[in-house]
Amino acid sequence: MMRWETHAHTAEGSACGTASAAAMARGCKTAGYDGLFITDHFYHGNTAVPRELPWEEWTDRFCLGYYHAKEEGDRIGLQVCFGWEYSWNGNDFLTYGLSPAWLKAHPETATLPPYEYLKLVKEAGACIVHAHPFRQAWYVSAIRLVPDLVDAVEVYNGNNSEPIYNERAMWYAESFGLPMVSGSDTHWDHMFLGGIATEQTITDAAEYRSLIHSGGICGLIRHEQVHPI
Ligand SMILES: [Zn+2]
Ligand SMILES: [Zn+2]
Repeated sequence: MMRWETHAHTAEGSACGTASAAAMARGCKTAGYDGLFITDHFYHGNTAVPRELPWEEWTDRFCLGYYHAKEEGDRIGLQVCFGWEYSWNGNDFLTYGLSPAWLKAHPETATLPPYEYLKLVKEAGACIVHAHPFRQAWYVSAIRLVPDLVDAVEVYNGNNSEPIYNERAMWYAESFGLPMVSGSDTHWDHMFLGGIATEQTITDAAEYRSLIHSGGICGLIRHEQVHPI
């Protein structure tokens, strides 16, 4: 059984990141994971990359967290895949399965209205996970649910301040029949609490979507423990 961290931030890509991508990769490996998705805050969120940069330069800088984690992962034996966390006034949508090259070729991802963004990336083959859908915080202006546009719901988020936020996410997934995933939402190289367990090999971020829809997730990691699903 392999463990994957699905939600992690780096200092290179996220203004709230506290550890370098290489340190995040080492921390993830030490915590016993086999793979790591880097999901830094995208253009509308808490990005560490100045928005006034030309798009190509912005994406090059934005992807550094992934590149640095991948480099360290290759060295220490941890798989690393690329994703990002798209923010819509505090409603966050993890986007997996598209490459840095795709992102560079699509500057409209930064300017499209959220519904149009979600449709664009889904048509391009992305997997969308609604992260912490019921978190309440100063930066969440409204709770928005778009069940027809997401592939899965993050029913455990290791960075939620109240357990009820995860309980409500579980209700949402069950009520709509949406697949369930888990992620640490870690911003620290020593905090890995969530993630998914699978018997299948993931070699590329594009495989995550089919893993979710084929029932390839056999367990959710919550508070560092694997819970079978
Ligand atoms: Zn953050
Ligand atoms: Zn996050």
